[in-house]
Amino acid sequence: MQDIFRYVDRHRDRFMTELCALVRQPSISAQNVGVAECAALLASQLEAIGVTARILPTAGHPVVFGEVRAPGAARTLLIYGHYDVQPPEPLELWKTPPFEPTLKDGRLWGRGTGDNKGQLFAHVKAVESVLRAAGTLPVNVKFLFEGEEEVSSHCLRGFIEANRPLLAADYAFCSDGPMLPNDQPTILFGVRGILGVEVSFQGANRDVHSGNLGPFVPAPAWRLVHFLSTLRDAEGRIRIQGFADAVVPPSAQEREALRRMPFDPVALTGLGLPPAAPGDGPAYFERLMFEPALNINGLTSGYQGRGSKTIVPHRASAKIDMRLVVNQDPDDIFEKFVAHAKAHGFNDARIERRGGFYPSRTPLDHPLGAAAARAVRRGFGKEPVLQPCMGGSDPDYYFTRVLGIPRVNVPYAPHDENNHAPNESITVEGFYAGIKTTAALLYEVAAL
Ligand SMILES: [Zn+2]
Repeated sequence: MQDIFRYVDRHRDRFMTELCALVRQPSISAQNVGVAECAALLASQLEAIGVTARILPTAGHPVVFGEVRAPGAARTLLIYGHYDVQPPEPLELWKTPPFEPTLKDGRLWGRGTGDNKGQLFAHVKAVESVLRAAGTLPVNVKFLFEGEEEVSSHCLRGFIEANRPLLAADYAFCSDGPMLPNDQPTILFGVRGILGVEVSFQGANRDVHSGNLGPFVPAPAWRLVHFLSTLRDAEGRIRIQGFADAVVPPSAQEREALRRMPFDPVALTGLGLPPAAPGDGPAYFERLMFEPALNINGLTSGYQGRGSKTIVPHRASAKIDMRLVVNQDPDDIFEKFVAHAKAHGFNDARIERRGGFYPSRTPLDHPLGAAAARAVRRGFGKEPVLQPCMGGSDPDYYFTRVLGIPRVNVPYAPHDENNHAPNESITVEGFYAGIKTTAALLYEVAAL
C-alpha cells in the first residue's frame, strides 16, 4: 500500500490537472449541454489508464462503462458515479466561472467538482495508482458512470435490468454527497425511499361567484382540505391503514450507531425558528432514518394574487411526498393511499403517482462496511461514522434490490461542497484522501 500511496503523492499535480479537464467540460443533463462530449472525455480518460471503456446508450443520456479484469481475482467491485452536473445558474452568484475550475484556499472550485466528478475521478485515479504501482488489481473492477443522475436517474433502472451480466459484481461502492458537518468521513449504508403523489379535486368547469353561486356548486378547495386532514393527525401520525405495517425498527446495532453519530442541531438554526431544544441525537436520527413521513410539498387552489377575488375555485390540488423506510414498497403504499381515499368517501379525488424509489439498506454488520471503514482509516487517517441511512432518497435499491448486491457510499466532498448551488467545491486533500481510500478498499474487498 505504501508504494501505491507514494504513487498518488508523486502524481498529485497531474491528477488535479486531469480532474480540471473533466470539470471544464460541461455536462448539464437537464439542458442536454455537453453530456455526450463529457462521456467521450471520461471514456478516453479510462482508456488512458488501461481500463476497457465503452459508451453505452440508454433511453436517455449514455452510461460510461469501464472494466479492468484482475487475473485470478475472485471478487468484483462495481463502482458507481455520475458525470452529469446540475445547471450552473444563477451565474452571477459564482465567484469563479463554473466551468473554469479554479484552485483556491485548498479547494478546487467549479460545477461538478464535488457532485460528482471529483469523487468519481478519485476512483479512477485509485485504479490507475494500483495498476501502475502494483502492476495488477487485487479485484476485478467495473465502473458504472451515469449521465443523468441529476435528472433522477430515469433510465438507469432499465439499463441495469437489461445489462445484468455486464454489471454482475459482488459489491457496489460509490462516493456521492457531502461528509458530516465536522467533515468527519461517514459510511452510508442506505437511503429512505420516496413516493410522490398528486391529488386533485374538480368542481364546476370554471370559477364562479362565491356570493351568487357559492352554496350550490362543489367546493374543491374544501374537499381537498378535508381529504388532507384524514391523512395525518395533529401529532404527525400517518392515518393511512397499513401504512407502517412493513416498517422495520432499528436493530440493536443500528441504535448503537445512532448513539455514536455526532449530533449537531445547527442544521435547524438560521431558519427563523425559535431555538431548537437541546436535542436528543439518537431520537433525531431515528426519526430521520427509520421513520416514514408524509409531507405536503405543494398546495394550490383559487386566486393567490393581489387583493381578493370572491370566487369558488373550480379546482384544488396538492402534491405530496412520502418518505419510506425499509421494508415499505412504493407500489404497495400507493395502493393503500388510493384505498384510503375510497374508504373515506373521496371517490371524486383524482390521484396520480409521481415516481418513486424503494428504500434501501445494506446491513450495518455487512463485511463490506467493515472493509470500507478500514479503507477510510488508511485513506483519511480518521475514524469513520457508520450511518445506517440517509434522510433523503437515491436509487440505492437498483444495486441492493435489482442487482441484489450490497452497497455503501463513502462521500469524499466536504460538508459545505455547495452541490447544486453556486461556488461548488471539493477540498484538494479530500480528493487525494479519496484516491487513497478507494485504492485501499480494493485490497480490503479482495480479502473479504
Ligand atoms: Zn447532485
